[in-house]
Amino acid sequence: MQVNEELIRSVVTQVLQEVRGRATSSGSGTSTQAFIGRFGQFDCPDEAVAAARHAFEQLRARPLEDRRRAIEHIRRISIEQAVELGTMEMEETGIGRLEHKIEKLETLGRLTPGTEFLSTQAFSGDKGLAVIEHAPFGVIGAITPVTHSLPTITGNAINMIAAGNTVVVNPHPSGRRVAAEGVRRFNQAICDDLGIDNLICVIRQPTLDTANAIFKHRDIALICVTGGPAVGRAALRSGKRAIVAGPGNPPVVVDETADLPRAARCIIQGAAYDNNLLCIAEKEVFVVERVFDDLVDALRMAGAVHLDRGQVQRLTAAAMHEVGEDRHLAPTKELLGQDAAKLARAAGMNVPEETELLFGETSFEHPFVQVEQMMPFIPLVRCRDVDQCIELARQAEHGFRHTAIIHSRDVHHMTKMARALDTTLFVKNGPCMAALGIGGEGYLSFSIAGPTGEGVTTPLTFTRERRCSLIDDLWILGSPDNR
Ligand code: NAD
Repeated sequence: MQVNEELIRSVVTQVLQEVRGRATSSGSGTSTQAFIGRFGQFDCPDEAVAAARHAFEQLRARPLEDRRRAIEHIRRISIEQAVELGTMEMEETGIGRLEHKIEKLETLGRLTPGTEFLSTQAFSGDKGLAVIEHAPFGVIGAITPVTHSLPTITGNAINMIAAGNTVVVNPHPSGRRVAAEGVRRFNQAICDDLGIDNLICVIRQPTLDTANAIFKHRDIALICVTGGPAVGRAALRSGKRAIVAGPGNPPVVVDETADLPRAARCIIQGAAYDNNLLCIAEKEVFVVERVFDDLVDALRMAGAVHLDRGQVQRLTAAAMHEVGEDRHLAPTKELLGQDAAKLARAAGMNVPEETELLFGETSFEHPFVQVEQMMPFIPLVRCRDVDQCIELARQAEHGFRHTAIIHSRDVHHMTKMARALDTTLFVKNGPCMAALGIGGEGYLSFSIAGPTGEGVTTPLTFTRERRCSLIDDLWILGSPDNR
């Protein structure tokens, strides 16, 4: 994943000037205002669902090839316009890293599975033939997070349309403008080519009320939510079938057999990506005592910056605060998704602006171990042996069954950890994103459904099984006398 930073910086400066120029000349600051009711732009959930239902009926009458063409437009725009759209997302949300916002859109365009996933199963024998096909649900209601506003919509839309559905999205309010603009571009291209509008509808001013209206709407056949614990609970209370891509707190174990320079590079790559906004990203590291100091050296050699105890304390005071009635700890808005250099300043030190990751030793009980921090500081916990590492990793994962990572050359340690943590994704000797086909095998989606068990979502996730049986005929291998 080589990125030419200078080129990106110059393109981005140009794009920003154009985007700002356009916003000023239109006077509105939102380019989608003029399109309400078209190209997926809606203020009212009822109108959005009605338009998506109409689009579903049109799509249903079309050949499979038209679904493939529709998602091809989403892929193309995602790749060709990644710099412009990624820059908009960075500007609007103010979290993460620009080069990764761009890269996420490009990668989704390339690696999200499409219509090829809709394989048919067949059973044949003396009694004839049964064919099992995968049918769409209809209109899906989707809720998307601020951490990847447009990327989540992009992946969801490709999967859901490939399966023959349409979708109404309630995006996070802090990423709503880029969500609406991306959706407008996708629909406009699809409509120009296929004559069907509103395959993807977005609520331009999303609130909890509009989310609830979507959850309860009688024409919403299925719900797919991507976010933290509250939205997962709300979706499961809706009375509809829900696919829940929930929170994670992925632990990493480094044992005494690990290739430490490789482990250090992987931890930095995964934990620093988009300033640790990925739900699969490395969030805390449990290290066997015998190699603890060597891992610290390897992390330093690979470019991460070591904070001492006092600096970790100062950073924690700035990075975590109590929220909610139960006063649980959560990351502060000031530091969530911010650059490592900004975190370092909060810790009382100056580091080069290009620093990717900070790290420091903490106890197991430390907030940076227990809370999904979503910022580029990684706590290291010293453990007696691999069994203690695995047990503490299990506890720190909080039963989310999301993602876990090990660096080891011992297959028994790998097996033990995989069994103990029981996570949806388990990575051995790589950065977290290898589990999604980036530097590893497999395909990509930004909705990983742990709690409800669908795993990395694909077009098949958004289908209903239908079986068609023909009795006595079409088993062509039987003897001519069998009839
Ligand atoms: P969030 O939970 O604050 O918001 C997610 C979405 O849910 C937003 O659109 C928000 O407006 C909505 N929402 C929140 N509470 C709701 C409620 N009670 N009813 C209806 N809608 C509600 O999360 P975020 O900060 O936007 O994103 C980060 C979280 O998402 C992290 O916990 C991360 O692990 C998780 N995440 C998970 C995956 C996955 O694939 N499993 C992917 C990305 C992010």
